[in-house]
Amino acid sequence: MNHDIIVIGAGPAGLSFTRDMAETGLNVALVEKQAEEILAEPPYDGREIALTHLSHKIMNGLGIWNLIPDEHISLIKTAKVLNGKSPYALSFDHEEVGEETLGFMISNHRIRKAAYESLKSFSNIQILTKKTVSKLGTDNEKGWVELADGERLEAPLIISADSRFSATRRMMGISTSMLDFGRTCIVCTMEAELPHKDTAYECFHYDRTLAVLPMSKNQVSIVITLKSEESAAVLEMSATAFAADIERRAEGRFGAMKLSSELFPYPLVATFAKTFYTNKFAIIGDAAVGMHPVTAHGFNLGLRGAHTLANEMKTALQTGCDFSSRTVLERYSRKHRRASLPLYHGTNALVRLYTKDTPSAKFARRTLLRLGNRIGPAKRLIMNQLTEIKAA
Ligand SMILES: Cc1cc2nc3c(=O)[nH]c(=O)nc-3n(C[C@H](O)[C@H](O)[C@H](O)COP(=O)(O)OP(=O)(O)OC[C@H]3O[C@@H](n4cnc5c(N)ncnc54)[C@H](O)[C@@H]3O)c2cc1C
Repeated sequence: MNHDIIVIGAGPAGLSFTRDMAETGLNVALVEKQAEEILAEPPYDGREIALTHLSHKIMNGLGIWNLIPDEHISLIKTAKVLNGKSPYALSFDHEEVGEETLGFMISNHRIRKAAYESLKSFSNIQILTKKTVSKLGTDNEKGWVELADGERLEAPLIISADSRFSATRRMMGISTSMLDFGRTCIVCTMEAELPHKDTAYECFHYDRTLAVLPMSKNQVSIVITLKSEESAAVLEMSATAFAADIERRAEGRFGAMKLSSELFPYPLVATFAKTFYTNKFAIIGDAAVGMHPVTAHGFNLGLRGAHTLANEMKTALQTGCDFSSRTVLERYSRKHRRASLPLYHGTNALVRLYTKDTPSAKFARRTLLRLGNRIGPAKRLIMNQLTEIKAA
């Protein structure tokens, strides 16, 4: 065997995990179906990722954060949750947590680029691009993958980070619960006339939700979620009609708005794997937990899980134990389930509540917002979950 670990998928989770293991000196093969040029210069994909304090700490420690120029990092100092047409908002402010910011905003393509760059100097990391894993399997000694071009790789451990629709997870027989919301998320960037004041808005209207997230200067990230059957009509809108529609839905808070990117649709399907490991095989990132984006936790959780697994493996190495053993993988799986299960179910419950427009759901929405503002411990709990300040 010429590799110690095979990582499948060079998305942000696979790249971060590989970087986390790079200094151990283990030989890692990172297999990715996209071309090397795409990893080096990923195209803009509309996703602006809200990062928590814990993610900041992990990315800093891995030397990924410092590869992202300051002008591409925006701060979220205040967050407001609005309900229907009511002016009442559940508000969170960075001063309440005694930090300069509640969180950070960075484009997904910039995270991917920095994570890829962070691996460049490691001779023990081999990145195999334009290679698709088509089959894989494990026995008690090792795992193997077969690539679409017929090449076969073997290693004592296989880690898969090949997205929420992971084909390798299925091939390894890990069953997964999937929740198809029947909704689509459309994201884009817009230029706003009025300053966003580093504030993130989540507006839960009754037909769709609209999030407006602060980016550098007067740019904002727009995230619309709507019934999938309505998405084609939005995607076909002219830039002027789209801008007018967002101005109206944002109730003029940002003045005149102008579309500054194309519109990117993403189907909303949440996934949670029954286990995150099996013999000589583990899943990380969206392959383990695919979150609905409303609570902005997908990559935050993916990074946290990848770091948990890397730490368990490093501890095994330091104590002379087998880093690919069942005990190590089981410990990772248990810890990451504990960290992600409440967030996963909490997010899905929130989505259900905010996509219903029955009188009882409307009443529950109003009540929750007011209780969230008034009950100190509840507010602190939400803030801790969203910012991960305590975990950092
Ligand atoms: C609209 C939207 C907004 C979001 N906002 C936030 C946010 O604010 N905060 C946050 O934390 N998260 C957010 N997320 C979630 C975040 O984008 C994902 O959690 C993250 O991108 C998942 O990374 P990953 O590496 O697990 O998977 P992916 O990015 O899906 O990468 C998987 C990789 O595996 C490769 N691959 C797949 N199959 C194979 C194969 N057979 N062989 C070889 N390679 C393969 C793919 O080419 C790809 O490069 C958002 C998501 C969306 C859709």
